[in-house]
Amino acid sequence: MKVAIYTRVSTDHEDQLSSLKHQEEYYIEYCHKKGYEIYKIYADEGLSGTSAKREKFLEMLHDAGVDAIIKKNGRIEFELSDRKPKFEMIITKDVSRFARNINAIEIVRALKRKGVYIFFENADLSTKMNDWEFRLGLFLLFSQQESIDRSKKVRFGKLQRAKKGHYKMSVVLFGYEYDKQNDKYVVNEEEAAIVREIFDMYTNQNKGTKIIAKELNQRGIKTRRGKKWDGEAVKRLLTNEKYIGKVIVHRYTKPDVMSSARYIERDPSEWVILENAIPAIIDEETWKKAQEIMESRVQFSKTGRKVGAKTGESDFYKKLICAKCGAYFTRVSTTKMRKKLNAVIKEYNYFCRNRRIYGTCDMKGISHNTLEREIMNFVQSKILHEMIKKKDYEKQMYEMLMNIQKRKMESVEKEREKIQNEINEIGAQIDKLYDTFLTNENSQLLLEATQRKIEQLERKRKKLEREKMKYDMSYIEEENQQIQRSYQKIQEYAEKERYTFEEILAMIQKIVVYEETEEGRELEFYFNLPTMLAYIFEDEIEDVETEIIPHSWKIQIK
Ligand SMILES: [Zn+2]
Repeated sequence: MKVAIYTRVSTDHEDQLSSLKHQEEYYIEYCHKKGYEIYKIYADEGLSGTSAKREKFLEMLHDAGVDAIIKKNGRIEFELSDRKPKFEMIITKDVSRFARNINAIEIVRALKRKGVYIFFENADLSTKMNDWEFRLGLFLLFSQQESIDRSKKVRFGKLQRAKKGHYKMSVVLFGYEYDKQNDKYVVNEEEAAIVREIFDMYTNQNKGTKIIAKELNQRGIKTRRGKKWDGEAVKRLLTNEKYIGKVIVHRYTKPDVMSSARYIERDPSEWVILENAIPAIIDEETWKKAQEIMESRVQFSKTGRKVGAKTGESDFYKKLICAKCGAYFTRVSTTKMRKKLNAVIKEYNYFCRNRRIYGTCDMKGISHNTLEREIMNFVQSKILHEMIKKKDYEKQMYEMLMNIQKRKMESVEKEREKIQNEINEIGAQIDKLYDTFLTNENSQLLLEATQRKIEQLERKRKKLEREKMKYDMSYIEEENQQIQRSYQKIQEYAEKERYTFEEILAMIQKIVVYEETEEGRELEFYFNLPTMLAYIFEDEIEDVETEIIPHSWKIQIK
């Protein structure tokens, strides 16, 4: 049997590169013993716990006949090619080496469809097994736990620092610049003038966001990212509270297990608001006026859904995909006079964007009513069933998660103590360096070297101090509560008799709409069913678009 070997080493430890060599030697012998023929060894180097480049991994998928396609939103999708796989099995040491995110399951599924199995050596797990998905989930749970803890600590540390008034923007906001020397944000006067002008146009000149964007573009003004302005960008600017000096941290969280959204806004009571964190560009009165105008332009439809300036998004915004050209569908509303009812009725239809705007696609549109009807029918039968089916599995996940939390709570004091000891030890080292070298008459060279060493130790001490802060009981308890809430919700979902349309929408990841044929029309549903597994991958959210295991089904409609 022809096999491929996949290995991965982290290069953040110096001695790891030599371990790559050892791994290779090991597998050559291993395969020799088993009578396997090695097609190729694919070895990636990268930092552990990050989504570092994994060229060899992608190359291996390609050789297995699976294409990884990077979508515009950065998400990677896996598609089967017509190529024959160059091997029948992939051997890899353990799950975390193979794939650190939820894509693992998607990848395994794609490989299986090409007839390629994976053997995870440490876990003694082959994807040939019937219950591989469940087993893989469990192993992921363990192997990811460490990296989750690490990233949660980092985030918690960020919050603690933010509470103390330190704040970092990942991209410096338009109107500001970062003063490296003094470690603070200062006003960029040239840009600030434009910000004031935008607020003035909106609040005093009665100009809309789109008109403002147009004017800015005409004058050749670019956004912070060097792009053209559009209505949305102007709207974001006008609603940004940073312009009055206010910085809100701890505002967004990872998506709830029930939602397919990327980020979720926390309850405002949980926000940490830092007043005067950065210099204001706009006075509060003007800013408030802008918000009021924005609010007043939002209308409510009869069903209570917001329409107009603020949302402008349809129920299926970025969820309907054209099978022909891959573009999203956009909503088109038409008003019809119903003479019998003597009423004006608004109807919604969705059309492929490429057809609607560029005329480069000829996919037929689909009505909102058809979609809603088909989805409701489908969900009431299939999804409910699916939720019931995985109830036990979710229970096991939940119990395991709670066990891990319990262990964490038990070790909080111990961990704190351990770190404190390390801090003390470093303190003693620093004292010693001061005593022995800095007070004596030493050469300049030795003095400088000693100083550098002390600085290095100080940095290490600070790092440990931050680390210590993260071992905090209330933080872990907050986590516990969140896990419990999610689990309750999952159980609740499994016991429901019906879902509301809103609940269903939250679970829909995407729907691929196929062409109409004589037999009817196919719709392919992708659902992100709520699962406790979401907790395992939450640390990936900032760099990789993480998905809760997608389930997809195709249905035929008449
Ligand atoms: Zn199309």
